[in-house]
Amino acid sequence: MRLSLFIFFILFALSGSFGQRVCGTLKYETSMFNKEFHSNQSNTQSRDTLPDEIISIPVVFHVLYNNAIQNISDAQILSQLQVLNEDYSRLNADASNTPNVFKPFAADVRIKFCIARADALGRPTNGIIRKHTNNVSYNIDDAMKSSVAGGDDAWDCNSYLNIWVCNLAGHNLGYATQPGDPADKDGIVIQFDALGKIGNLQPDFNKGRTATHEIGHWLGLKHIWGDSDCGNDGIYDTPQQSSYNNNCPSFPHMSSCSPNSNGDMFMNFMDYTNDACMNLFTTGQKNKIRSLFALNGPRNSFLNSSACDSVTESAGSVPANSTPAIPSEVSLSIYPNPIDHDLNIVALNGYELKGKSISIYNLTGSLIYKSTGLAAVNKINLSFLTSGVYLLKIGNNAEKKVFKIIKL
Ligand SMILES: [Zn+2]
Repeated sequence: MRLSLFIFFILFALSGSFGQRVCGTLKYETSMFNKEFHSNQSNTQSRDTLPDEIISIPVVFHVLYNNAIQNISDAQILSQLQVLNEDYSRLNADASNTPNVFKPFAADVRIKFCIARADALGRPTNGIIRKHTNNVSYNIDDAMKSSVAGGDDAWDCNSYLNIWVCNLAGHNLGYATQPGDPADKDGIVIQFDALGKIGNLQPDFNKGRTATHEIGHWLGLKHIWGDSDCGNDGIYDTPQQSSYNNNCPSFPHMSSCSPNSNGDMFMNFMDYTNDACMNLFTTGQKNKIRSLFALNGPRNSFLNSSACDSVTESAGSVPANSTPAIPSEVSLSIYPNPIDHDLNIVALNGYELKGKSISIYNLTGSLIYKSTGLAAVNKINLSFLTSGVYLLKIGNNAEKKVFKIIKL
């Protein structure tokens, strides 16, 4: 073989090819971490998930653009949220394309994604940050997650799902961190022309399923083939398959380790098929995802996040460079939650509640209760509240903290 032809084949093999899904998550995990994981867990005492409770995930988008085309529209970004809310609720229009033999396994994960309406200090936001960058493209090395490196720093991963949108090198469509990865890296990265379902998108990846897939990783799911030949994804109801599927196979598609004549579940969101061919998570995947939100689970803190609720904006905006009076590492214990009778609010790490306002709002923003903190330990009788979800606000303006509480 002539040398130039040989080099061409080598380069082709290294670069991958257009038209195939390339997810960088496995490569990222193996190259970036020695699995010396840090805990993302909040110090705030929390509660367990309620049966089939809809879990809300506030989302912040960090759009890093080098040219106008990469600076995608708000409408394109919001179309991604719509896709996520359909796919994680089994409300996707193409759910009907799930083969009948697999339909009994399909699940409504009962997770809702909402655009962040307040930042970590309670200031109003539209949940979309835009920054020009001199980086023409990014490798899967987290540079987009660092303001110093020409990206944008993560928001608190105990309360927000960070989604970075940028131009990824090497045909990667996206990659994700997994539960337990370092907090300042936590989130997903999506190629700008594979995000959402409107705008100038790659034809095979134009229905927002790249983010559905990467958030699956962020929520603890593995690729359906277990990332090895006839591997194990740890999910009981996804059939074993020899490897990933590209493009759009026709059903049934058998592989060497198919357990029965149904073959591969290539339409699962955690395979590599085109956007138009993916349409389900299974009950096993749902259970795995929801286990992360249980008490002591790595994503449990999201049960407290109120970043999507407009009531947190009620204090108005504060200067962008103001320093919060309550340091972000301060933790408050709020228990029990759900509440039967008394609610206890205890400050840890020496932070005094004395003199701070304690307010409780309902979800329409009406003030239900107000008092002033008396000491480090506050016990509030809430037996007068009707059953439901409320927001507990401690402090005012830039120093406030907001928690979601449930009255039984
Ligand atoms: Zn993947």
